[in-house]
Amino acid sequence: MAQSALEVLQEVFGYDSFRGSQHEIIETLIQGGDALVLMPTGGGKSLCYQIPALVRPGTGVVVSPLIALMQDQVDALTELGVNAAYLNSTQDWQTAREVEREFLTGQLDLLYVAPERLLTDRCLDLLARGQISLFAIDEAHCVSQWGHDFRPEYLGLDLLAQRWPGVPRVALTATATQLTRVEIAQRLKLEQARHFVASFDRPNICYRIIEKNEVRKQLLSFIQEEHAGDAGIVYCLSRSRVEDTAEFLCKNGIHALPYHAGLDAQQRAINQARFLREEGVVMVATIAFGMGVNKPDVRFVAHIDLPKSVEGYYQETGRAGRDGEAATAWLAYGLQDVVQLHRMINQSQGDAAHRRQQGQALDAMLGLCETISCRRQRLLAYFDQHIEPCGNCDTCLEAPQAWDGTVAAQKMLSTIYRLWRERGQRFGAGHLIDILLGKLTDRVKEHEHDKLTVFGVGKDLTDQAWRGVLRQLLAHSLVTVDPEGYGTLLLTEASREVLKGERTLMLRRETVTRGPAAHRVKG
Ligand code: ADP
Ligand code: ZN
Repeated sequence: MAQSALEVLQEVFGYDSFRGSQHEIIETLIQGGDALVLMPTGGGKSLCYQIPALVRPGTGVVVSPLIALMQDQVDALTELGVNAAYLNSTQDWQTAREVEREFLTGQLDLLYVAPERLLTDRCLDLLARGQISLFAIDEAHCVSQWGHDFRPEYLGLDLLAQRWPGVPRVALTATATQLTRVEIAQRLKLEQARHFVASFDRPNICYRIIEKNEVRKQLLSFIQEEHAGDAGIVYCLSRSRVEDTAEFLCKNGIHALPYHAGLDAQQRAINQARFLREEGVVMVATIAFGMGVNKPDVRFVAHIDLPKSVEGYYQETGRAGRDGEAATAWLAYGLQDVVQLHRMINQSQGDAAHRRQQGQALDAMLGLCETISCRRQRLLAYFDQHIEPCGNCDTCLEAPQAWDGTVAAQKMLSTIYRLWRERGQRFGAGHLIDILLGKLTDRVKEHEHDKLTVFGVGKDLTDQAWRGVLRQLLAHSLVTVDPEGYGTLLLTEASREVLKGERTLMLRRETVTRGPAAHRVKG
């Protein structure tokens, strides 16, 4: 007689009880139903398909894009006495033959396959000749064309529904917006699947977002003052920034290693292994790093460039504190990030719909940065979850002050309007603020901008405060970046209401930024 799910949990995996909705998900699959599982990283997704694969007759086929991690997963299962194997391109022909034989003779409980491999005729034929207990599609958000992990091969996986209508399928992901969920269900033909959405709250992570000025020094102080000797991840947007930042941290006594797709595979593997095994390593990385990396005691995740979406940000920060102990998610961002990301979107390949979608994702991220209410509340609202103010984020711990920025916004918007009439010129944020502050720079003199009525009308605020105003105007879509010009700022439809005085604008007051701390910084 088959063992019960609870018996398998205890006897094979050595755990006492199920977490969250694991039990319900497992029973759904055991009874032959489909499931769509949304659970944060570290939530315990693997057991959701591993246990039903052991309880049901046949082999559980796991589709996973993470070839590099298949070996680890199979080793861990083998150690528990589970018969697991994988098929992927890193194997020699003979080993693959042996795995195929084990599958056909019914010896395997679990078989891990990369999607591109699964979709080959050879592999489909093989699967058709054996007995399959279930299909698990891991990292299912890779099917979403809008997401940053899109894998075209995932689009072919709807074929499993047609070829094996009687075999239960489960799709799993840590990405959680309503939109992604609908897209996964649709593209993978999981319309009948039961949805299981776990809570995405990670109460032990303290979220903090600060204004960027000298970001490397800010980062260094943050690590030295709050996380000395801790393991952490620092995310950067580009490879060169990864290199520079890792070098800077090393010079200043932090045990930092770089990771990005430009490093050769061997170097990446070495750095990742050191991050996992040694204590207190800080991995400086692009978003190429992290998916599937299971290190429970990462104490902080820092972003020194603005992430492109709330979903990406949430996933990346979710790699902190998987052991449940206190951890920090720290983000520094500034005006330049906003302008740069707008420009990247404008210049990106792809159709207008795609660009619009990216623009909306960026706006949501900016909304999170500029919010004057609880960060966690804002973050979880994005995933359709509603909570009370958390008490463990910067805005909860030290309430930001709001001020009536209507007049300041009007000054800024009219300056943009005046400059727009000289279009063809490239006037960026810096020049705009010089005009407001009444600075007689060469550029101002050359274009006679000291003759503008707005020249010097902004002396009541500091340069930093003006940057804050502009950033927030961008975040509220009251200013946009010219899709054609190089960082030129433009008014939007909505700015008219503010200019006409029909709309009051409450802005977040810039906190006085502390200078670099008393540490010596080598640069
Ligand atoms: P995910 O794939 O969702 O990121 P994992 O499946 O890797 O998460 O699980 C994260 C950790 O939690 C693993 O170390 C796993 O063994 C552990 N875990 C999962 N379920 C349970 C449970 N019911 N009881 C105790 N530990 C669990
Ligand atoms: Zn909060």
